Amino acid sequence: MRVLLAEDSPVNKKLAVTLLEKHGHTVLTAGNGKEALDNLERLTPDAVLMDVQMPVMDGLEAIRAIRAKERQTGEHMPIVVVTAHAMKGDRERCLEAGADDYLAKPVCSRELLEALDRCAHPDAAAQPSAGQAAPTREYRTLDVRAALELVDGDRELFEELLQLFARDCPNQAAEIRGAFERGDARQLERLAHTVKGAAASLGAKGVSQAARALEEQARSKALDAAEPRIEALELKLKELLEEIEAVAPKTAERK
Ligand code: MN
Repeated sequence: MRVLLAEDSPVNKKLAVTLLEKHGHTVLTAGNGKEALDNLERLTPDAVLMDVQMPVMDGLEAIRAIRAKERQTGEHMPIVVVTAHAMKGDRERCLEAGADDYLAKPVCSRELLEALDRCAHPDAAAQPSAGQAAPTREYRTLDVRAALELVDGDRELFEELLQLFARDCPNQAAEIRGAFERGDARQLERLAHTVKGAAASLGAKGVSQAARALEEQARSKALDAAEPRIEALELKLKELLEEIEAVAPKTAERK
């Protein structure tokens, strides 16, 4: 299938593109909802995977705009929402906006492939597929078993995603500090949300939970109480980065 992926997080983008390509799909990408909307006709995908929280135009707004256009053309693009907004009522909000399906991040390859299968054959029942991950014990703060399940047991891809996360990390941390210092609660919430989603895809539960706490704090606009949560997140990120640095070279040497 030709799949248009609208996703702003480099980690989640890389993850989805690699998994889908491995299974024979062609993946086209957009960095936000507006890009997806603007390029939809030109790219002619068979289905769209849509993140919700993105800069410029979020996923739900893009879906509403796509559906509004389709009311004139009579067409129907299958759209699957993939989001780390796994809170009550989110599924309903996505379906109301016009999504055909909804997946909560972190998404494993089986769920992703099954959702695309449902897009291609809306009447057929999903076929369960076997995916197993080898347990490994090199990382302490990472749930590697869970992370490997998300990447089809592909250790190389997992390591690559970790490196991508590590590279992006100082930038994210600085942006979080900056948003806090400017008193920009909305931006702080968005940044924390992105870190939460990327960390969850790597099995980095400590980071993901700390980012989630910060996200919730920022959403409540109570920024005066956000600093300890930022510090907690920075600490978890530091632990994770140290671990990635310590473990990754050893993994590379063994090859
Ligand atoms: Mn996003």
